Amino acid sequence: MYEIKGLNEECGVFGIWNHPESARLTYMGLLSLQHRGQEGAGIVSSNGSRLQGEKGLGLLSEAITDVELNHLTDDQHAIGHVRYATSGNKGIENIQPFLYHFYDMSVGVCHNGNLINAQSLRRNLEKDGAIFHSSSDTEVIMHLIRRSKADHFEDALKESLNIIKGGFTVALLTKDALYGAVDPNAIRPLAVGRMQNGAYVIASETCAIDVLGAEFIQDIHAGEYVVINDEGIRVESYTQETTTAISAMEYIYFARPDSTISGKNVHAVRKESGKKLAQESPALNADMVIGVPNSSLSAATGFAEASNLPYEMGLVKNQYVARTFIQPTQELREQGVRDKLSAVKDIVHDKNIVLVDDSIVRGTTSKRIVKMLKDAGANEVHVRIASPEFMFPSFYGIDVSTSAELISANKSPEEIKEYIGADSLSYLSVEGLIDAIGLNIDVPYKGLCVESFTGDYPAGLYDYEENYYANLSPRQKDYLKANKQFFDREGNLNVKSI
Ligand code: AMP
Repeated sequence: MYEIKGLNEECGVFGIWNHPESARLTYMGLLSLQHRGQEGAGIVSSNGSRLQGEKGLGLLSEAITDVELNHLTDDQHAIGHVRYATSGNKGIENIQPFLYHFYDMSVGVCHNGNLINAQSLRRNLEKDGAIFHSSSDTEVIMHLIRRSKADHFEDALKESLNIIKGGFTVALLTKDALYGAVDPNAIRPLAVGRMQNGAYVIASETCAIDVLGAEFIQDIHAGEYVVINDEGIRVESYTQETTTAISAMEYIYFARPDSTISGKNVHAVRKESGKKLAQESPALNADMVIGVPNSSLSAATGFAEASNLPYEMGLVKNQYVARTFIQPTQELREQGVRDKLSAVKDIVHDKNIVLVDDSIVRGTTSKRIVKMLKDAGANEVHVRIASPEFMFPSFYGIDVSTSAELISANKSPEEIKEYIGADSLSYLSVEGLIDAIGLNIDVPYKGLCVESFTGDYPAGLYDYEENYYANLSPRQKDYLKANKQFFDREGNLNVKSI
């Protein structure tokens, strides 16, 4: 079932309550979250009695023009979304927020992440007569809310949040309130801030709170939701069955370096990962350290500092080209790497280089960059990855949902080193990563979700389970077998324990 790509979304959500410029501020907030999704964006706003919305495909500036934004100007409350979509799922019908007008109320809703039981929920809903207009999980959430027998919207929301599984944040707007909810593991983040005039904002990342000059108030934790209305702010739990497991990939790749997740600044964490990586896998004989712009620059500075090597700008990124993953096909992705990066020949020529990247997923980026540096005259290129081997798919909303596309699911570091043409290759250990992030919460993996590195899925697998096990590669199986917690008493892979 998880071959049905396109349901995985790593997006950005934003919401604001009670500001005369709510739509414009939402636009600004979304702009600062643009790195989380570039294929579509939307805003739903309210003047306290009716809800209206604008949305479109592409970057925020393409999706919502000034004219459209002007339609929303007199409204005081708003939610917004930037969308990351994968192939086959790029139509306007999937762009959020969705705006529903019912006989008794209107609701705007958007989400970030992936619901791992959405397929089965949807099937059951359809069998029961529900009609879907999009392939987005967001619609499932709205159907659940409307089918609830609860008297109040908030109770219906709570009920629905207990039915959906996975890694997600949800933002909802009604004429009476703004809601923001976080999955029972807090895999995907949501933060709350307050503006000087008393307006509240919620956002996937704190950078969207900072950009408005608002003050950070708190993170919404595992299994919690926040309600903001004219009476103020309230944070409630919708379940007691929670275990904090914040996505390590937020720190490694997704979030902006100026964001802080659960008290840990993303740049500082990445820098620390680079330092740990240098301690674990030093690159002897190197002349300089180079980072792959932009997400690996922090880690590269940490690596350089810890190894007493100069940090150099050996690669330059064209800042006007969007992230490579955003290209839906492998061919376009490969082209994308060339358009996006170039080597600084005079800097790298004849030098032994440590190349730091945040992760290797398919191996496309590293292979291209090693070749690019060698073509520019680099002598040796030692690749250091500031995260562990990405061996297992993720179903919690980071668009890496099949084992087949993961180079580390099938190849050893030695084989990957050959494949990408590097002179050496090492990864940060799982322990090194956990230490570098330093959440130190007294739960498995110290409060992190590291499923892609360990095959340990804190929110379970649900609709993806059958295919996941059917498609495990020999290398993945060997890894799981070496980790006893995945064995049942008979010594078989223990499905239930994961
Ligand atoms: P690849 O070229 O497939 O090996 O992907 C690795 C590159 O993509 C790295 O340079 C990362 O910065 C970036 N990356 C890693 N994980 C993701 C993800 N889930 N979505 C988009 N980009 C990613």
